[in-house]
Amino acid sequence: MARFIFVTGGVVSSLGKGLLSASLGALLQARGFKVRIRKFDPYLNVDPGTMSPYQHGEVYVTDDGAESDLDLGHYERFTGVSARQSDNITTGRIYRDIIARERRGDYLGATVQVIPHVTNAIKEFALADTDDVDFVICEIGGTVGDIESLPFVEAIRQLRNDLGRDNTVSVHTTLVPWIKAAGELKTKPTQHSVRELSSLGVSPDVLLCRTEKVIPNSEREKIALFCNVSKSAVVQALDARSIYDVPLQYHSEGLDEEVLRAFRIEDAPEPKLERWHDIMDRLDNYEGEVTIGVVGKYVGLPDAYKSLSEALVHGGLANRSKVHIRWLDAELFEHEDASLAAELEPLHGILVPGGFGERGSEGKIAAVRIAREREIPFFGICLGMQMACIEGARAAGIEQASSTEFGPTPEPVIGLITEWMGSEGLQERAADGDLGGTMRLGAYDAELGHNSRAASIYGSTSISERHRHRYEVNTHYVPALEKDGLVFSGMSPDGRLPEIIERPDHPWFVGVQFHPELKSRPFNPHPLFASFIHASLQQSRLV
Ligand code: GLN
Repeated sequence: MARFIFVTGGVVSSLGKGLLSASLGALLQARGFKVRIRKFDPYLNVDPGTMSPYQHGEVYVTDDGAESDLDLGHYERFTGVSARQSDNITTGRIYRDIIARERRGDYLGATVQVIPHVTNAIKEFALADTDDVDFVICEIGGTVGDIESLPFVEAIRQLRNDLGRDNTVSVHTTLVPWIKAAGELKTKPTQHSVRELSSLGVSPDVLLCRTEKVIPNSEREKIALFCNVSKSAVVQALDARSIYDVPLQYHSEGLDEEVLRAFRIEDAPEPKLERWHDIMDRLDNYEGEVTIGVVGKYVGLPDAYKSLSEALVHGGLANRSKVHIRWLDAELFEHEDASLAAELEPLHGILVPGGFGERGSEGKIAAVRIAREREIPFFGICLGMQMACIEGARAAGIEQASSTEFGPTPEPVIGLITEWMGSEGLQERAADGDLGGTMRLGAYDAELGHNSRAASIYGSTSISERHRHRYEVNTHYVPALEKDGLVFSGMSPDGRLPEIIERPDHPWFVGVQFHPELKSRPFNPHPLFASFIHASLQQSRLV
């Protein structure tokens, strides 16, 4: 049976519970254990798919088509274990399922209540599909004490009784703030937070204390005394210089050892951390540097492009190079061609990422044109590929080329996908259908042209990548676009949906309908990002 680790957070939000869970997963994995990491989100949305990236950061898409929390991206990047639909749940989904069951009559005769019905649903979710792993790490979103996270903490309390103390461990993350005026670290917020959690029936076994300064022995003793844990279970977490240093740092502070001790596991092998040391060596001792311009809409919040910025870093790791990202707000350049060109020209690569809606689209199309004309390496992802097709169509004389996503157009180079083959058969969508959970989502295969750049980058002509889109290139326009020099080098296996475009007459110009950034890992950089950064390094020698 799997053992369960429950990760909660106190004092403030944004303490990095996602990175903690991912790092703990990586450390247990490095000791030879099999892990799964799960995220419990207390909000009422069924999934984050319809939330603004400004609210929630990026929506991470799994192979099996879940639109999920961005922390699942950290889990995958740190452990290499592909997340599944069953690894993220929200209060909204739990209530939706319970209410559907109630309407069906499944609870006939019963009053449906938070305890036991909601807590049972949370427990079922935690326990489902865990037979093949040694540890399940369950991260509870939000902060202990929030009204909305109460049912989750209650479910943990019950699970600790159901499964037994030796099979469950509670790790609580807190903040130990530095008060400058007093010149002191303060432990009181941690004490209050642990008291709050304990009052709900969950006493933590390990405390991870985020802090700006080293926690002195005396303060550690104080935390241990008031929070009822051993001194060694007060693990300090100083700010890290890179997220990829976090597993190494937490290991040297004893996190994995303390968690294993709490489980009374004494014979665990020492962790093999070579791959993490190798990543840090590549980050610290880089041999080249490039600056990539990302022309997007949500550039004010780096979390909105989390996987993308990590995949760029991974592309750098593959080339032993440091990647600087210049975030450019596409909207500011809608009518400012000259200033956009001045911004982009000194850069070594231009990337137009995924996105939704018309705002900023003319700025993105202008960025594609500048990249094409000035022969700057260009990478278009999802909406970015669609913008590259619109730009190509306009260059081919179809001046009114646009996407039906932006409103009615006489030249719909990009249009709504109305049907496609999914693993469950033909999928159909109407223009006025629901927006939540109805895109072409998750992993789909594509076939690549034998002599294409794409095939040589992948080293294969059959690939599988993750998708999240509602619109597609209208194949009616393919001949006109090909005449202008675009090559459709990747198609869905039935030949109906364009998946990759490229320009053979350009140093590096690739657009993809899918999201390669979601599958890139630091120890296994995605080939498209590795190749894009390689081309950008060559460009850096020219400018
Ligand atoms: N808005 C576009 C579509 O739905 C692109 C989506 C994306 O970039 N993820 O097709």
